[in-house]
Amino acid sequence: MRSTRYIESAMTSLLPPSIASCFGRRSTRGVWSPQKLSRQFALTRRDFLRTSAGLALGSTLFGARAFADSPIRKRKAVVITFGGGARDQETFAPEGQENIPHLMHELIPQSAFFTQVVNRGILGHYVATASLATGVYETINNFASLPPEHPTVFEYFRKDLKRPSADAWVVAPSNGFNRIGESSHRSYGPGLGAGVILPKHLLTAAISGRRNDYAHLLRDNYETPLYAPELGGSEFELMQMERILKLSVDDFKAHARTLSSPDELSVYVVRQLMRQVAPSLLWITMHDIDVAHAGAYSLYIEGIRRTDRLCAEVWKTIQSEPEYAGKTTLFILPDFGRDSDDDSGGNGFQHHRTGDALSRTTWMMALGAGVRQGVIFDRATESTDLVPTIGSMLDFSASFAQGKPIQELL
Ligand SMILES: [Zn+2]
Repeated sequence: MRSTRYIESAMTSLLPPSIASCFGRRSTRGVWSPQKLSRQFALTRRDFLRTSAGLALGSTLFGARAFADSPIRKRKAVVITFGGGARDQETFAPEGQENIPHLMHELIPQSAFFTQVVNRGILGHYVATASLATGVYETINNFASLPPEHPTVFEYFRKDLKRPSADAWVVAPSNGFNRIGESSHRSYGPGLGAGVILPKHLLTAAISGRRNDYAHLLRDNYETPLYAPELGGSEFELMQMERILKLSVDDFKAHARTLSSPDELSVYVVRQLMRQVAPSLLWITMHDIDVAHAGAYSLYIEGIRRTDRLCAEVWKTIQSEPEYAGKTTLFILPDFGRDSDDDSGGNGFQHHRTGDALSRTTWMMALGAGVRQGVIFDRATESTDLVPTIGSMLDFSASFAQGKPIQELL
């Protein structure tokens, strides 16, 4: 059991001095529950965004009906996980805003922003992303090549709406994500899921052994460098690269050489996929930030800044591609946060081991078709609410999900 003192310390280290001192005084009166801490994180984000980005408080507002002007069959949703996890003091706190200029000045003013999205599940990247994709807190081994146990958003979408396999895709960071496209659930599963593109796997196949030229793009996992599972399931083959992405192996290799990180490679593949296939449901898992596990703060910050820029690039592509413009809702949310500086059970930004309130209290922004712009909602939601929300927007039922549709987006 974690000491309350550590939780208070984590809280106060996050806050501006004036608010921190307030917490300091109040902390002498009793225990801060995780729920109360999450609420306080949310209020701090809310106040900061209201003053810095000019957003209005939307707790009493409800948006226009989603996709009011778009026929159901043309609606699209794109999800970006802002990963693997950044803390407020490097993002939304006043001292962090310089790291996310694109979110602050371009995306947030156009978004409905939810300040309190709590993840009550396991804080490992694969299992947490699987939980986001199923709407259930999955308990599968984070480091095993296993499918989620509950139906994924891709399966609900394809089965309910009778969509072909080309209409749902995942672009994921490491080999460990190769099974995320479809679950082991007996009512769904094989043949009903999303295609999964693993850009690093694709690049490995394309360069056939010349790894040194691309080493900066190929690191598979920041947490356990020795982990590189054998691939099975629906991973993308080189042949498909040419047939679906319309990229020659040589073009792909040449372009990859110009890129600085794995997430850059993912977004390059995403753009190509949007132009050539235009899937209606597209899931992009970012992972550069997780380089923090190496312990270099500067690389962690660089990862946040790059992710900020890449999110804006995906949004620009959505707005400029005729298949997406005006009929797409973009969701951006982290899989989870990272540990506080003052928790003796962790090592600050480097890991996400303590399971404290800071590492569990995340956020989400939604923008695009049907979403009211420039409003903040600070009531508590959960990571598992994402899939039922997308279901309500795109008109399919997430029958086995634990979460609930976010009413402010419907
Ligand atoms: Zn990690």
